[in-house]
Amino acid sequence: MPTYVVMLGPPGSGKGTQARRLAEKYGIPHISTGDMFRAMKAEDTPLARKVRAIMEQGALVPDELTIEMVRERLGRADVRAGAIFDGFPRTTEQADALARLLGEMFGAELDVAFLLDVPEEEILRRIGQRAQIEGRADDSGEVVHRRHQTYLEQTAPLIEYYRDRDKLVEVDGARPVEAITEELEARLEPFFTTSG
Ligand code: AMP
Repeated sequence: MPTYVVMLGPPGSGKGTQARRLAEKYGIPHISTGDMFRAMKAEDTPLARKVRAIMEQGALVPDELTIEMVRERLGRADVRAGAIFDGFPRTTEQADALARLLGEMFGAELDVAFLLDVPEEEILRRIGQRAQIEGRADDSGEVVHRRHQTYLEQTAPLIEYYRDRDKLVEVDGARPVEAITEELEARLEPFFTTSG
């Protein structure tokens, strides 16, 4: 049985790091729409310029474009084994689309939505640090704030969305990376245990 996992949490919650670790451990793809959009930014096309402008504002790329990109990605064979989604979905429309795509393409449904819970002050501290280390263009002052606002307004409603559907598993994200990975793996164990 394939296992499909969503990582939820504000920018700076460490969901990217955890998603990569889980993908490696279980040998399934890590699907980061942020990485996919960043890869596009290097291109010099009208669409790439539009995406770049949106990212630099800390806003969200339109649902239609994001969903289409994920739909294409799900067409690749590796996804049949499962996937760890990181930074997708970010709106309820995207969450509906993900459920629909998993059903139509694989006859599957999402298994778990992990929420990495990190207190607001800790998030702001981490993002500031990352901006200094990586020099990410979208991590500078004002943009950091806007991305956080965007999360609160457009993505945080997914917490209730997945809680209502019995998919939400909350994890304390204000701990060392290794401890969090261990808990996520323990929670995923039932989904990777083959039963005949
Ligand atoms: P991330 O690396 O996930 O923080 O994403 C970086 C930026 O890419 C975000 O601030 C958005 O501008 C854009 N982005 C990434 N994923 C999505 C998504 N699922 N929907 C809309 N925009 C996205």
